[in-house]
Amino acid sequence: MDNYIVSARKYRPVTFNSVVGQRALTTTLKNAITSGKLAHAYLFCGPRGVGKTTCARIFAKTINCLSPAADGEACNRCESCVAFNEQRSFNIHELDAASNNSVDDIRSLIEQVRIPPQIGKYKVYIIDEVHMLSAAAFNAFLKTLEEPPHHAVFILATTEKHKILPTILSRCQIYDFSRITIKDTVEHLQYVASQENVQAEPEALNVLAQKADGGMRDALSIFDQVVSFTGGNVTYRAVIENLNVLDYEYYFKLTDCILAGNVVNGLLILNEILSKGFDGNNVITGIASHFRDLLLCKDPKTAELFEVGASIRDRYIETAKKCANDFLYKAIDLVNESDLNYKPSKNKRLLSDLTVIKLCQLSSPQTSSDGQKQKQVIDPVFSKQETKQAATADQSATTSTPNSQHTDADAQKNISNTPKSTNNTVVAVPPKLVNSGDLGISISAFSRKKEEDDKIEVKDESLNERFTPLQLINEWKAFAETLTEEHHLKNTMLNCLPNLIETALFEVVVNNPVQEQRLLEHSMDIQAKLGTRLRNSHIKMKVRVSEENEKKLAFTPAEKFNLMMGENESLRRLKDEFGLELS
Ligand SMILES: [Zn+2]
Repeated sequence: MDNYIVSARKYRPVTFNSVVGQRALTTTLKNAITSGKLAHAYLFCGPRGVGKTTCARIFAKTINCLSPAADGEACNRCESCVAFNEQRSFNIHELDAASNNSVDDIRSLIEQVRIPPQIGKYKVYIIDEVHMLSAAAFNAFLKTLEEPPHHAVFILATTEKHKILPTILSRCQIYDFSRITIKDTVEHLQYVASQENVQAEPEALNVLAQKADGGMRDALSIFDQVVSFTGGNVTYRAVIENLNVLDYEYYFKLTDCILAGNVVNGLLILNEILSKGFDGNNVITGIASHFRDLLLCKDPKTAELFEVGASIRDRYIETAKKCANDFLYKAIDLVNESDLNYKPSKNKRLLSDLTVIKLCQLSSPQTSSDGQKQKQVIDPVFSKQETKQAATADQSATTSTPNSQHTDADAQKNISNTPKSTNNTVVAVPPKLVNSGDLGISISAFSRKKEEDDKIEVKDESLNERFTPLQLINEWKAFAETLTEEHHLKNTMLNCLPNLIETALFEVVVNNPVQEQRLLEHSMDIQAKLGTRLRNSHIKMKVRVSEENEKKLAFTPAEKFNLMMGENESLRRLKDEFGLELS
């Protein structure tokens, strides 16, 4: 432990020029000093570790320098500068408001303010974390801030500007410090590494700078940590291991799997990452940033925003060429959604797996390149129709009713629902088909296929129109009417009307198990027909025997006859026509 000085202190800038990443701000300060236009109070705001206190100290030293350079920098040689650099100057007072925030602390500071400096021109009071001062302390300080002695300069520093009272803000010149860019951080770290004879890979320093998130102090502390860990050879691998950062490599591998639609390998890679102890949510956000970076690298202009070393940027640009914009938008959207759902999710592992599965599914061949867009739109329409037709054919084969008549009548009816004018073909296209993005299809093709479409569209999951109970009953009756007189279903349907109980779920209360059986036998057909008529493919029928009738069996001849009549319309007609009555 001989004279080891942490890098953040050892390489603390002593001139404005050596301050990293705040060029505009330091230039303004220097200009103020050279032109002699000094304010009595300054407010330095910005995130932690970006150089606020450092700049305040350089400022204090520079305005007290006995022989300042022409460019406004301190000489660092005169008595005053040396005293400052050796931290024994009496012209600088630092107060950490985080721990000294009482009125008394401020009062003792105000006492000192009145005493003029022995050497040099100004006494500089730096109040760090000034937002931590109590309200009473603020008020006590306000008076001094309004009428300071000419030799006093206050520099207030804060990470939380919004907590500063407006009365204070209005009395200060405000300087906003920005986060230090990754590029600037890396350059400075490279400089420090060269001074310390440390071998450092650019990618390693890049990860380090990213971890520091714009703060140079943090970057230098992490740097020290990694240097001692690696014994002076800072490699990318050592850094990601030491800082528990997930290797870029995994994201590239995962992207390859996603692009190839390889779900199995995708899940294996995810498992490998998670088994290394990385948190699922971090992985998901990592994938999101990875896709965002790929998107940035699609265009040379936005690639500039991507703050990484040149070698890794080339790799991103190469991978980005393989990804269609559309794919990246969808992927980012998907991952973002998973990120939002992660916290409330009960099964987080499943969510992570599902995210990878969904991502792999994004890259079907249609989305692999921009050039195929035209084909992309058209292809699914026809293939979907074929499968739909096949599905309907299967369905009608298993649940078919003996008569083909009603389907014809049904189709007729559906055609009459659409405008009859054949001139106006645009209107003739069912609006839902236009909506589903199938604009690439020629309209005449639709007109020709219209009849089939009407039959198959029930399978279209996108049909989801709302309907009223009355509409349901009307369509139910209308469908029953299309059935032949001999069809037993017709009577049952006309006798037992549906009752809408949820958006698309309706119940039919029947009188006996025979009717129940009959409806259930034809439930697929009924649901399909009603689905078409009401334009809702989620329609669902529930059949229940009326509780009242369930237990009540037909005992008397009259009851038996009534029951039979319910089943058979011919009996009713017989009874009506001959005026029969059971005694
Ligand atoms: Zn000097």
